[in-house]
Amino acid sequence: MHVAIVGCGQLARMLALAGWRVGMRFSFIADPGENSACVDGLGSVVELTPGLRGEALYDALGKPEVVTVEREHVDTALLRSLQPFCQVHPNPDAVAVSQHRGREKNYLSDLGIETAPYRLANDADGLRQAVAELGYPVLLKSCEEGYDGRGQWRIKSADQLEAFLAETELNFDIIVEAFVSFSRELSIIAVRSSSGMCAYYPLTENLHRDGILLRSIAPAQMDDDRLQLQAKNAALKLMESLDYVGVLAIEFFVVDGRLLVNELAPRVHNSGHWTQGAGVCSQFENHLLAITGAKPGHCKPACYAGMVNLLGKDVEVSWLMQGNMQVHAYNKSLRPNRKVGHVNLWHADRQILLQQLEALDLSLYGEQ
Ligand code: AMP
Repeated sequence: MHVAIVGCGQLARMLALAGWRVGMRFSFIADPGENSACVDGLGSVVELTPGLRGEALYDALGKPEVVTVEREHVDTALLRSLQPFCQVHPNPDAVAVSQHRGREKNYLSDLGIETAPYRLANDADGLRQAVAELGYPVLLKSCEEGYDGRGQWRIKSADQLEAFLAETELNFDIIVEAFVSFSRELSIIAVRSSSGMCAYYPLTENLHRDGILLRSIAPAQMDDDRLQLQAKNAALKLMESLDYVGVLAIEFFVVDGRLLVNELAPRVHNSGHWTQGAGVCSQFENHLLAITGAKPGHCKPACYAGMVNLLGKDVEVSWLMQGNMQVHAYNKSLRPNRKVGHVNLWHADRQILLQQLEALDLSLYGEQ
């Protein structure tokens, strides 16, 4: 089975590493000038040139059976051009929904899935009106291209809003979100096969710092299964309505004991990396199973599992000698705050695992 992946980052790397073990072959589609160090040695890399699409791209990739994506911002017209020649999962319409935060929030609302209160704006008056309706504080997010806290501004007062407007040329769509005071951030990783079979990992609890995921632990602690059920229902509704095939991640805020969707990721996701070290079928394996026509694999971990991201930090060789630690380095050069790897840990005792995750966090980043 030959799978082509749009993108050459760490998610493509981990998909390929999971597939290599079971004899799959890979090729990768790179944007012009894209650094492909993460997938070095894992398959051929085809760099896009003007007009390279459809059959010519399919041939250049070596005629893959299926094409998938490792990032949100892919050219959906390019994906559509490949559809006459091979399977494309998830489908380009599903990918398009998440490429614009406004479109995504409207889609969720139409399905009756709750989000933080929001308004859309694309000029100064619209922005002032949206903020007046929602009340301070608000979070402004550019509808396209922002991720990991980039393209976001927290606005607490009219003075800050006017300062933002004075220094920003508003030539892009903005989503204005009420700043919700959440008790926790959770995510669900779900998977749907081409025959419509779905599976769900337990909710993961995530800790972000400066908008970037720092660490996760799963299963998230719960008094009962209400939130798991709410998350599962949201995922099922979305996957069915999008005719989705593959892994879908949904990030949530917990507010007053219920889930509000923060955002969708139509792909394998950082908050699901713990699945690589938890004795389950990992999110990478499950994505490959789904897009190649197989049934979803086992998602229920036998122990607690967690992950700490390496943000601008190198792997320490001593971690490789530990019994319950799994190290992933993405073959990226170090830059401050750049995601260059992660460490997975697991333990039968949640408290011990939590202590290990906190100790690792502290040794990497110090008191914050
Ligand atoms: P995002 O890029 O939208 O996932 O946002 C990154 C992080 O910013 C989230 O994980 C939250 O910690 C925080 N955040 C985003 N939106 C909101 C919101 N409406 N209210 C409060 N915090 C938020």
